[in-house]
Parts: sequence; structure tokens; C-alpha cells
Amino acid sequence: METYDSSLAPRFSQLLAQREAELRALLHATGDFAEAAVEAGPHEVVDFKDVAMEQTRATVDEAMAEHAEQELEQVLAARRRLDDHSYGNCLDCGEAIDLRRLTSLPAAPFCTACQAIHEHERPLAMRR
Ligand SMILES: [Zn+2]
Repeated sequence: METYDSSLAPRFSQLLAQREAELRALLHATGDFAEAAVEAGPHEVVDFKDVAMEQTRATVDEAMAEHAEQELEQVLAARRRLDDHSYGNCLDCGEAIDLRRLTSLPAAPFCTACQAIHEHERPLAMRR
């Protein structure tokens, strides 16, 4: 298994910065959408189908924003771990996290085994 070492720090720093920017843009966009939905709300005559659709969209939007916020926290935590050189090790068992996992999920705080345990305990966490 390939693992993270500090020579990869600039690459992961860039990956995390990029993800942080994406998440911030997403949160900004969903915030705008929520405002727009409120503005269009009470003044317009809409049939029930439209209302249901708006509500579905708002719910999806909220769930997405909530997930983005959680992921943003993980990204920021991962950047702190890069800075203090603890990045790349599982927060639970301390073992090195598979590099392939880190490459696809740079903010991953746990190794695959510990992640599975966490998902079992909190089924909604970290689901993609
Ligand atoms: Zn672990």
C-alpha cells in the first residue's frame, strides 16, 4: 500500500485548497438560492405541484448545504493536519491512510476500516 509522506504536502495542500474553494462557492450558491425562493414565495400564485417541487428543491438544497458545511470542516481540519504534520494518518487508529483513498478524498480523517465503523455508528455521516 502506498502511503502519504511529507514530500506530497504541496500537492495535497493544493487539492484541499481547491476543494475548500469549491465548497465555499457551493455554500454561497445555495445561500443565494434559499433567498431567491423566499423572495418569490408568498406573492406568486402557484399550484400545488409547483409548491411541492419548490419544497423538494429546498430540502435537497438544505441537505446539500449541510453536507457541504460538514465537508468544509473536514477540509479545514485536514489543512491543519497538513500544517502540523499529522496529515495522512487515521485519527482513530493512527495507521497511515491508503494514498489512493487520500487522493480521491483528501479530507478523509479515517482509514477505510475506521470509516466503516463510523458509518455504522452514524449512518448519515460522510455519505457521498
Ligand atoms: Zn483507522
